[in-house]
Amino acid sequence: MKCVFSIDVEDWFHILDVQATPPLAEWTTLPSRVEANFYRLLDMLSEAGASATCFFLGWIAERYPHLVVEAERRGHEVASHGYAHNLVHRMTCQEFLEDASKSRRILEDIAGRAVMGYRSAGFSVTQDTPWFFSLLVHAGYIYDSSVFPTSCTHGGLARASLSPYCCETEEGPLMEFPMTVATVCGQRICAFGGGYLRLAPLWLIEYLSGTVEAENRPVIYYVHPREIDPDHPRLPMGLRRRFKCYVNLRTTERKLRHILPLHDFVPFAALVAARTAEAKPAEVAR
Ligand SMILES: [Zn+2]
Repeated sequence: MKCVFSIDVEDWFHILDVQATPPLAEWTTLPSRVEANFYRLLDMLSEAGASATCFFLGWIAERYPHLVVEAERRGHEVASHGYAHNLVHRMTCQEFLEDASKSRRILEDIAGRAVMGYRSAGFSVTQDTPWFFSLLVHAGYIYDSSVFPTSCTHGGLARASLSPYCCETEEGPLMEFPMTVATVCGQRICAFGGGYLRLAPLWLIEYLSGTVEAENRPVIYYVHPREIDPDHPRLPMGLRRRFKCYVNLRTTERKLRHILPLHDFVPFAALVAARTAEAKPAEVAR
């Protein structure tokens, strides 16, 4: 089963919905850790022979274009995490369209090739953003990986399909790769990214990923460069968020090194190409 290892390429201060998170105008004044951390992630991927999808914030790509070039050079897929890390449900349709289009333009200029994929900040697609999918098609995207098929901190679509599916919108089709959850006793459980992955013990991640593969679904992992950097600066926040943002940072790199050889990791673009090839004979027959 082909699986996906994805990286949301952003810095340590891109924490969502916390009062202390600095506004965009201050980002350039802060010490950055993203370069060193991203290079380390790329080295870990190279050592494991794995290919990933790297969802870059447009702001990061503009400031550190060499990270985009290096990801591309090492055979990873360059995709978009939006420009300014805004929650989808806090933007108007117009703001969302501009943000998603701007980041795609920046990334395509740097990478020199088409950017197909998008992932929203914080999986912040909800029932209140029905326009999300068609506007992504309008902005030129082929696929999305922003649906979290259970509730999560910043969004979630609790009834969404667990398997990848084609979303028919008024602007055309969009391939959707929902974030992976396992089903245990009817409950949808995530252990494959962010705080979920840092909190879950390795045996549980292995067990749950096995149940997902047994259901013939790809396991999709997601990490942030800051998660392998236990000494990065902290933002002040409440106890609950602090736990979720910073738990087990010291053990995450070891965990990732264990996970990377477990699966056959390919970028999302490869899954899209395989599905397109599968769909073609049926279209010809019609
Ligand atoms: Zn993010």
